[in-house]
Amino acid sequence: MNTTDRLPVLFVGHGSPMNAIEDNRWRRSWQQLGAELRTRGQPIRAILCVSAHWLTRGWWLTAMAQPRTIHDFGGFPQALFDQQYPASGAPDLAREMAAAVRQPDGSALGLDEGEWGLDHGSWSVLKPMFPEADIPVLQLGMDYGRPLSEHLAIGRQLRAWRSQGVLIVASGNIVHNLRTMQRQAADDQAYDWAVAFDTHIAQAIGRGDTDALVDYRSVGDAATLSHPSWEHYLPLLYAAGAADTAEPVRFFNEGFQAASISMRSVVWG
Ligand code: ZN
Repeated sequence: MNTTDRLPVLFVGHGSPMNAIEDNRWRRSWQQLGAELRTRGQPIRAILCVSAHWLTRGWWLTAMAQPRTIHDFGGFPQALFDQQYPASGAPDLAREMAAAVRQPDGSALGLDEGEWGLDHGSWSVLKPMFPEADIPVLQLGMDYGRPLSEHLAIGRQLRAWRSQGVLIVASGNIVHNLRTMQRQAADDQAYDWAVAFDTHIAQAIGRGDTDALVDYRSVGDAATLSHPSWEHYLPLLYAAGAADTAEPVRFFNEGFQAASISMRSVVWG
């Protein structure tokens, strides 16, 4: 296979869980992108989701035949809790991938055969994107306690799988501060620090500067405010690692939700 057989890699800003069911510009983009990916003519054998919402000790892959839909949130309408995403898992692929992708200590990825499933970082995006739920989905659990360079290094190991029919969908947010949210803010309204950080990261992505992505905290206050905790940032490192610096990159869903959540999303390839 040459590189043109390679599937693109996505980073998706997921924002509010309500985006799964609300007709808004973010969700419409996800629907459109899913349709585009279907018409590219490259068969998608499986989707590997790297969600901000599965943090583990060590790195894990879901390996169950039928992952459950996890409603890992509170305070939302019943309609959101009623959502299911019945995609199957891919236990054989999970075993193959777990053996090939190495943790920093050289060990294979852990295989989760019943604990996790698909959390809303995955299904809230996949349901609009691939409503048929006919593509098997795996999730990768991230070790939150480990240095950012290790997350990038695992992302780099995922690159080869793009030529094996695996669509990598990393799901987080480039700016994510729930404490400073202003729910009534328009899509183009955001804090200065949020805009500054979002722009800094967009520029680093644009020039393929993965060092700058790993070293995001050097930005200072804007970085700390953008990520009081950094689980929503980490998925970006997997997507950027799985991308080639030479390949085309485009942004979509630029803008903010509630003034402190960047919805900026990225397609490489
Ligand atoms: Zn989230």
